[in-house]
Amino acid sequence: MITHPLILHVAIATPLRRLFDYLPDDVSDLKVLQPGLRVSVPFGRRKDVPGIVMSISNKSDFSYSKLRKINRIIDEQPVFTHKHLSLLKWASDYYHYSIGEVVFSALPSSLRKNISISKYIERVWCLTKKGAAFELNLIKKASKQSQILNYLQQRKSPVYESDICSIYPRSKPSLLSLKEKDLITISTEDIEDSVIKINKSPFKLNKDQKSATDEILKSIDNASVFLLNGLTGSGKTEVYMRLMESTIKSGKQCLVLLPEIGLTPQQIQRFKDRFEVNIAIQHSGLSDLERTQYWLAAKSGKAKIIIGTRSAIWTQLANPGLYIIDEEHDLSYKQQDGFRYSARDMLISRSFRDKVPVILGSATPSLETLYNVKKNRYKQLVLSTRTANAKPPKFHLLDIRGKKMFGPISQSLVDEITKHLDSKNQVLLFLNRRGYAVHLFCHNCGWKAECPRCELPYTYHKGINRLICHHCGVAKRHIEQCPDCNKPLLLMGHGTERIEEVLATLFPQASISRIDRDTTRKKNAMSDYLKKIQSGEIDIMIGTQMLAKGHHFPNVTLTGIVDADRGLFSTDFRASERLAQLFMQVSGRTGRGIKEGTVIVQTYNPEHPLFRQLIQHGYNHFCTSLLQERNHSSLPPYSYMVFLRAEAHNSNEVKMFIQNAAMHLNELTNNKLLLFGPIPALIEKRNGRYRYQLIIQSQSRKMLHTHLNVWLEKLESSKLAKKIRWSLDVDPQDMT
Ligand code: ADP
Ligand code: ZN
Ligand code: ZN
Repeated sequence: MITHPLILHVAIATPLRRLFDYLPDDVSDLKVLQPGLRVSVPFGRRKDVPGIVMSISNKSDFSYSKLRKINRIIDEQPVFTHKHLSLLKWASDYYHYSIGEVVFSALPSSLRKNISISKYIERVWCLTKKGAAFELNLIKKASKQSQILNYLQQRKSPVYESDICSIYPRSKPSLLSLKEKDLITISTEDIEDSVIKINKSPFKLNKDQKSATDEILKSIDNASVFLLNGLTGSGKTEVYMRLMESTIKSGKQCLVLLPEIGLTPQQIQRFKDRFEVNIAIQHSGLSDLERTQYWLAAKSGKAKIIIGTRSAIWTQLANPGLYIIDEEHDLSYKQQDGFRYSARDMLISRSFRDKVPVILGSATPSLETLYNVKKNRYKQLVLSTRTANAKPPKFHLLDIRGKKMFGPISQSLVDEITKHLDSKNQVLLFLNRRGYAVHLFCHNCGWKAECPRCELPYTYHKGINRLICHHCGVAKRHIEQCPDCNKPLLLMGHGTERIEEVLATLFPQASISRIDRDTTRKKNAMSDYLKKIQSGEIDIMIGTQMLAKGHHFPNVTLTGIVDADRGLFSTDFRASERLAQLFMQVSGRTGRGIKEGTVIVQTYNPEHPLFRQLIQHGYNHFCTSLLQERNHSSLPPYSYMVFLRAEAHNSNEVKMFIQNAAMHLNELTNNKLLLFGPIPALIEKRNGRYRYQLIIQSQSRKMLHTHLNVWLEKLESSKLAKKIRWSLDVDPQDMT
């Protein structure tokens, strides 16, 4: 170590797991230099690369003469606070992922470039003298302009542009027209705070909601983790909103994470209706500018509510007061490539750092969470009653062995559908598989239509007459004859398209809608379907996972789970947990109104203990025995797991890479970690690459992570490591 006057340790967006040392430039004031500041640096052959100062010291592993100077400082102020930097650093250590990639992924994409933040600082509008005295009826024709002007005249003080836009959507052109007419202008004053108006809830909390709310309010200034366990429709969102209300009133901000499928316009509207405050909503439809402004609004404390999916976890809040994660068990909270973080686990970590309570909401909590409840680390609050007097649904296991079938639908299910339609109710059929048929093969010679890149069957999509590989997305024209022997090909295995066809012939009078990824690609398609379901225009809906979660269908009295057996015999140790969650979610669509609901489960395995336990004793009881199983076999949450995932065109090289990696790890740890592998991934070949894994397991999280650090350095420098795509997955959630 050599001592220097001042060295900047800078994070740069590269896969290399380290910081890079630079000297200050000659012109900048050394006093402004501090961690969190963005700087432009020369990096390799590139001249102008953005970096973030992580720390400053007078030590470097390199000699002074080898160090280069930064080009310049990009912003006047740091983009990250000390606290946020320490969170990001911790995340980078925990997931063993490059610090540079981690800090840059926590910025909106516009700030990942060398553009100064000042370009994005939001405009504040105020009236001109002329505007303040202006007669509104003079611009009646342009009604948005007159509304905005009226609003500004009422408010009398300057208003943020985003506040105006959240009340009058898409009003930027109107603002500019008003400016041109010299009625409004951009204010240079700093304004105090944005509008805060909270509307009263239309109903009184029920007993469970009240005690849950009171309990959480008691520790509103602490880091406590609560599991709010209640069926869909039991009033969890109402509890969130009451707590958000008191958080906002005390001047603090709320961060709300929703699963990908839950971030619907309806859900957002519920928050907007209740809270007339600055809400930052992060979703995929935003422009760079909007995203950056929301990010800034959260950072400055102006946004009182921040709502988003997984990546919203990295939003920096000036004054956090409450963290909420809805449907905490949802898989979409775990990033499945690149930086494989879990937004739920990060939120809990943030809660401890920030001393802010966190609510995990779910009807079907993950085993990890139930385990933590058992260990008294989290407090469970149960909402047992459904609101609006709804009754829990009745389950029927329907043994379809040897029964008369119409495609995938049994005669008994058809009879049941008829009954419910006759009573003017709605029916939901669930099958988690898109397309028409899953296998296309030749009965004569055994030829199969398979994607050559994944070695898995194509799915036939009849609507577009194409064969699509659901693993790599490749599509090709459908063929009807065997390419080898010219005989007609057979179709096997059913998808949603097939059910739709079968039902159309069985129930010609009924209005039937298929709701899956294929039919909801267009913008607003999903909300149009939801509206039609609510208004009773649709009699039978056929849906995949998309339809299983979170929606309100008060008139659905029958849910049919068409193929319940998938997932019963998977090698993924989490399969039964997932199946049980899906099962409960699907059945949660039924009987949400005053009418009682029925769930029919078609199965070839009516004796399977999973079904029996789930149906007879319910989800939580079922999970208690799952936890016992996990305990016996030392699986998570009773141990900690990391996957080394690797893939390459040459399967021998992948296996060799993993074998070597395992050997090194065993040497390093004296065989103290449990290693399994190389084992093939559930989807062994995808997109032409062979995929293998090494499962690394230990009872001690600390030991696991300490060893991994040393091991990774060695791994990175190995020859094969450069030829193969590989990554670490800490706390993996799926084996695919
Ligand atoms: P969840 O978030 O658990 O699915 P919601 O909070 O969305 O449940 O509540 C389900 C429905 O019940 C909503 O339409 C909501 O407006 C209504 N609701 C919630 N709490 C009450 C209450 N205390 N009294 C009457 N209706 C309620
Ligand atoms: Zn053939
Ligand atoms: Zn494929």
